[in-house]
Amino acid sequence: MSTVLNFNAGPAALPPPVLEQARAELRDYRGSGMSIMEMSHRSQEYEAINARAEATFKRLLGVDAGYRALFVQGGASTQFATVPMNFLPPGGVADYVVTGTWGEKAIEEAKVLGGANLAASTKGGNYDRVPAGGEIQLSPDPAYVHLTSNETIQGVQFPEFPEVGDRPLVADMSSDIMSRPFDASKFALLYAGAQKNLGPAGVTVVLIRESWMERANKGVPTMFRYSTHAKNNSLYNTPPTFGVYLLDLVLGWVAAQGGLAGMAARNAAKAGALYGAIDRSGGYYRGHAEPGSRSNMNVTFRLPDEAAEKKLLAEAQAAGMVGLAGHRSVGGVRASIYNATDGEACQALASFLGDFAAKNG
Ligand SMILES: *Cc1c(COP(=O)(O)O)cnc(C)c1O
Repeated sequence: MSTVLNFNAGPAALPPPVLEQARAELRDYRGSGMSIMEMSHRSQEYEAINARAEATFKRLLGVDAGYRALFVQGGASTQFATVPMNFLPPGGVADYVVTGTWGEKAIEEAKVLGGANLAASTKGGNYDRVPAGGEIQLSPDPAYVHLTSNETIQGVQFPEFPEVGDRPLVADMSSDIMSRPFDASKFALLYAGAQKNLGPAGVTVVLIRESWMERANKGVPTMFRYSTHAKNNSLYNTPPTFGVYLLDLVLGWVAAQGGLAGMAARNAAKAGALYGAIDRSGGYYRGHAEPGSRSNMNVTFRLPDEAAEKKLLAEAQAAGMVGLAGHRSVGGVRASIYNATDGEACQALASFLGDFAAKNG
């Protein structure tokens, strides 16, 4: 088996024990004589997986009564539209705090459907930070306030979330869900495509406060109503069964690692190793994000010129470290170090960066 150190941005690394278990159960799921992929989503086996995944998701986030976790399809990009379809009323306005590329995409979808107020944007600084609380201009009575907890492309993460009073708070947490503890009960809704921190591409998780769900717009087509998926336990139509199965295994793995507190400690050490290498390079590496907004999931930086960046990426690849090219829209280098990337991979990359700067700086 050939192994690499996988720094892909998404789809991304999965925990090795999860992949091993999936392989062991692939042909015969627990004595059923068939694969999970081959059985009905109405089977007892699958219903147990589905129910356990919802329960574990809510338990890890510390919410229970009053919330539902839904497993849907279409990626986070579909949620950019589904949120305003359900919660932006005719003539209403929703507030968006935009700190990077994904937030830009989210507000564009709201504008298709109604009024969207750019409550704050850090575009002026090329999205190198999150706004201070005082910079956020909320509407008096918005339908909701939307933010992106971690901007995957720029590598900018909210260290804590802004106060929004009693306005419903909505977040795209695609690239940092389950990476640290936070107060999920402050959110009316949060969503995440699974392919960064939760599992394979094809499943999207939505956590929604039930009392808010009841206030959704009428006249939304069936598949786009959150209430459809809640009433049917995410089994209204055929769900991505193998994806939910893997998601359930990943959630079990997170729980076994000490839950969100365990993940946060691991992730802080991993990111610390890489930012340490950047900060010790005497300016050879230039981190994109301001220190107070640095992401513990996506470490983004530039080198003195593009030739040096190309050389670094080629040498990293030769050393078995893959997925490090920055997003095509920003260039440079991006190390994505989601939950499943282990500390040893980050240590190896940090020492590679130190050696590379010493040789080329
Ligand atoms: C990857 C990503 C998306 C897009 O997710 P899809 O599942 O491809 O639609 C949206 N938001 C954030 C923060 C992401 O990291």
